[in-house]
Amino acid sequence: MADYIEAKNLRAAQGTMMTCTYCGFCKSVCPTYEGIGWDPSVARGRIILSYGLLRKDIPADESVVEHLYQCTTCKDCERRCPSGIEVVDVVERARRDLVASGKMLPRHARLVASVAAHGNPYGEAKRVQDALRLGGGGGELGYFAGCTAAYRNPSIAKATASILDKLGEEFSIVDEVCCGSVLQRIGVDEEEVKELMERNVEAIASAGKDEVVFSCAGCYRMFKEEYPRHVKVDFKVKHISEFLAERDIKLSPLRKKVTYHDPCHLGRHCGVYEAPRKLLARVPDAEFREMPRSKDTARCCGGGGGVRSAYPDLSEKIAARRVEEASFAEVLVTTCPFCVNNLRVGGSSCGSKVQIMDLVEFLEPLIEA
Ligand code: SF4
Ligand code: SF4
Repeated sequence: MADYIEAKNLRAAQGTMMTCTYCGFCKSVCPTYEGIGWDPSVARGRIILSYGLLRKDIPADESVVEHLYQCTTCKDCERRCPSGIEVVDVVERARRDLVASGKMLPRHARLVASVAAHGNPYGEAKRVQDALRLGGGGGELGYFAGCTAAYRNPSIAKATASILDKLGEEFSIVDEVCCGSVLQRIGVDEEEVKELMERNVEAIASAGKDEVVFSCAGCYRMFKEEYPRHVKVDFKVKHISEFLAERDIKLSPLRKKVTYHDPCHLGRHCGVYEAPRKLLARVPDAEFREMPRSKDTARCCGGGGGVRSAYPDLSEKIAARRVEEASFAEVLVTTCPFCVNNLRVGGSSCGSKVQIMDLVEFLEPLIEA
């Protein structure tokens, strides 16, 4: 029997969807279209599928679900769209309707269950503070490490803490749970995401923090863009690159060819382009060069929007293409542990020799204490 769904979340986007002229300008930038190559894998196709779900013209069959979940939510299509369609909002609404109708992907269901049981999507039983044991000081500065740095890339959390120590900052790690980014991206009910937001802002308030720094672009975007829509954020929110760019940091020379990958969460979603570049430009002897697609035109690493967990092969292909664009460099720096990991997977699949590092890992050994 055909499986039509009640698309309550998509209702509010009906007018938006109807403004798509099917011009196809979005095709030139979509990283999943480049990987798959037919219309349901690009913004206009996803708009048509979402509209079809809303109107009950099409059932939510396996292929519709797949194409809506293969969007990395990178937002590049929105930059190209002459109708100004908020494609990511439409896709995420469609996903909330699919989840509400019992269509959550099994791999995503495992992440959701882990966040409910452990407060993180990686199935780790330890709290972030116990996993990292960094930044014992008090002070009014908090560091929100994020689940990926805490459990998968502790070198990023350690480098961040070491930099803050070298700068003489008194700080402590927030008694955090998952920021909610992964749940928000894959279509979990916003009330459930709000519970995580409340737990985090309460932990920050009870620790007396008036400023919180983030080394993860995804967590930063949640606190900067999405938390204020649901909870009171009465502390300053800064990405570590912004925090460091404001300071007079002395860096040792490094004779390397360096380039920078803009994470979609930090760049297109939050407009932070200059702070990481200012820091890289301050490294004496480093030769910085932009990738052909950079800043607002930067190509997605392919890992976002729940794509990496649900469609790892697609994610890897997109990452490999992105790393190949950096073949002129010796070091590819980025500002998100999730991008670091996905680009490393892509780099090894295409045999790239480029070293892929987070900005804090790159800068930490160069900062004079
Ligand atoms: S660029 Fe915008 S209006 Fe044109 S097809 Fe894509 S989503 Fe539709
Ligand atoms: S958000 Fe990115 S992946 Fe999704 S349709 Fe737009 S360009 Fe493609």
